[in-house]
Amino acid sequence: MMQIVDGNAIAGELSGLFRADPTMLVAVCGECGAAGPLGGTMVERDDFAAIVRCRSCTHTLFTVLDEPGGLAVVIASLARLQQPAGQPGDEPGRDEVGR
Ligand SMILES: [Zn+2]
Repeated sequence: MMQIVDGNAIAGELSGLFRADPTMLVAVCGECGAAGPLGGTMVERDDFAAIVRCRSCTHTLFTVLDEPGGLAVVIASLARLQQPAGQPGDEPGRDEVGR
C-alpha cells in the first residue's frame, strides 16, 4: 500500500547509499545511458565548483558547489545513482546484526 510521508522517511536509505566510498557508487547518464563508478567520471573543478561529466558523452551529470552556506549538489543529466553490484543493502539495522 502506497503511503505519503515526509522526506524524513528516506533518511535511512540515503545514509545507506552514502555509507561506503562514494566514488564507487554507479552513476547512470540520462543522456547516453552509460553506467560506471563515480570515480571514473570526468571532473572539471575550480575553487567554487566541480562539474561532473559523463566520460562517454561529456554531458554534465551533476555539479557540486562549494558555497558560503555549505556544499550543494545540482543535478543535471544524472539519471541514477546506485550502489555497485554486490554491495550490501541499506536496510536499517543491517550493520547492527551481531554487535
Ligand atoms: Zn553520457
